Amino acid sequence: MQLISDIQAMSEQIDKWRKQNLSIGFVPTMGYLHEGHLSLVKAAKENDKVVLSIFVNPMQFGPKEDLASYPRDLKRDTKLCEENGVDIIFSPTAEQMYPQNFSTYVDMNSISDKLCGASRKGHFRGVCTVLMKLFNIVRPHNVYFGQKDAQQCAVVKHMIEDLNLNLKLKICPIIREEDKLAKSSRNVYLNEKERKAALVLSKAIFLGENLVKNGQRNPKIIIEEMKKELLKEKLAKIDYVSLVHPKTMQELEWIENEVLGAIAVFIGKTRLIDNFLIQELQ
Ligand code: AMP
Repeated sequence: MQLISDIQAMSEQIDKWRKQNLSIGFVPTMGYLHEGHLSLVKAAKENDKVVLSIFVNPMQFGPKEDLASYPRDLKRDTKLCEENGVDIIFSPTAEQMYPQNFSTYVDMNSISDKLCGASRKGHFRGVCTVLMKLFNIVRPHNVYFGQKDAQQCAVVKHMIEDLNLNLKLKICPIIREEDKLAKSSRNVYLNEKERKAALVLSKAIFLGENLVKNGQRNPKIIIEEMKKELLKEKLAKIDYVSLVHPKTMQELEWIENEVLGAIAVFIGKTRLIDNFLIQELQ
């Protein structure tokens, strides 16, 4: 396995693979890898070559967010990638990605200003811009994203369509801890008490999902019940609980065929997200 941080070197390696007609699977991450990331690597093994990027992208963090404290451990990540058959870790520096005269951005209307986009202004502009750059450098045939970040998946899908990007988006299911907390690099911020309290997220998610599956079609009632569940936990502070259309992220008045139930909740200072997706209701 190679560890490449230089953009030019990465691009040259891709040239070689492309000339040999090898298929390239790409897994963009911010590192501090866990089984959620590794499930994407496993899926990407359907390609001849797998590239995983590790880049804590400053552009997608707000001024009051956790850019400085975001967990990093390149040595451990390297070992995990080696064990899981990644061919290249691409880990560019912020200086190379955003030189001083950097001034071009990829932005999106409508679906990126709801949910996480509403509480994290500029977040998806940062996400779209960095992904566009990474896609251009790595030139993958297939890209792998986790359903854990449901809105990100919708945004990327839209960007691929709008900008005619020549790649396929593959979305992989949410990987959870044994006690059902969705795996996240940010879980490391939680102390023992908060870790227990964080279980309230998946409880609320499964509650909402079951209500829909059992026939409830009124989003207001489901949101109310989910909020009630979340508020049972004293350490939890709700950012949002929303039932939206999975493609447009528009709030639903009534559940017809498909629904994304998405939540963001602060446990202490740590902001966690979780969701359920139902795509075909009878
Ligand atoms: P991150 O490093 O948090 O930016 O995540 C990189 C990729 O891994 C994104 O596509 C995430 O959606 C995905 N991911 C993160 N956590 C999970 C999880 N628990 N299950 C599945 N995919 C995940």
